[in-house]
Amino acid sequence: MKTKKLLPAIEKEIELYNEDSFLDMLNEVYGEVNICGMIMDAGTVLKECDPIAFRCAMNDSQEYETKYLCPICGEEHDDEDKANFCCQDRNIFECEICGETFESEEEAQECEDSHEEKEI
Ligand SMILES: [Zn+2]
Ligand SMILES: [Zn+2]
Repeated sequence: MKTKKLLPAIEKEIELYNEDSFLDMLNEVYGEVNICGMIMDAGTVLKECDPIAFRCAMNDSQEYETKYLCPICGEEHDDEDKANFCCQDRNIFECEICGETFESEEEAQECEDSHEEKEI
């Protein structure tokens, strides 16, 4: 009797910030600035004037989140178990003689036994 193993979920590190969301965050935290009488968003000013500093700040603040991808459809899940069983069932047991698959070990065993009886 063989047990068909599930394909494991794919672990993926997700960056919490991309340039747009980091820009929004800066604009929210630092608000507007007055530059020569012009009111501008602080984050936007930083990004426009000094893109390198902007990117450094983003890297410093970067946070990572682990997500799990379903190995079949690629859907993202917070939970490894959910990703494993998104498109797959629990372990499948296979009759070694006819290749039929069963959800329980007992059924697969019974199938194998039934073949042996026929051969005798
Ligand atoms: Zn899936
Ligand atoms: Zn069988």
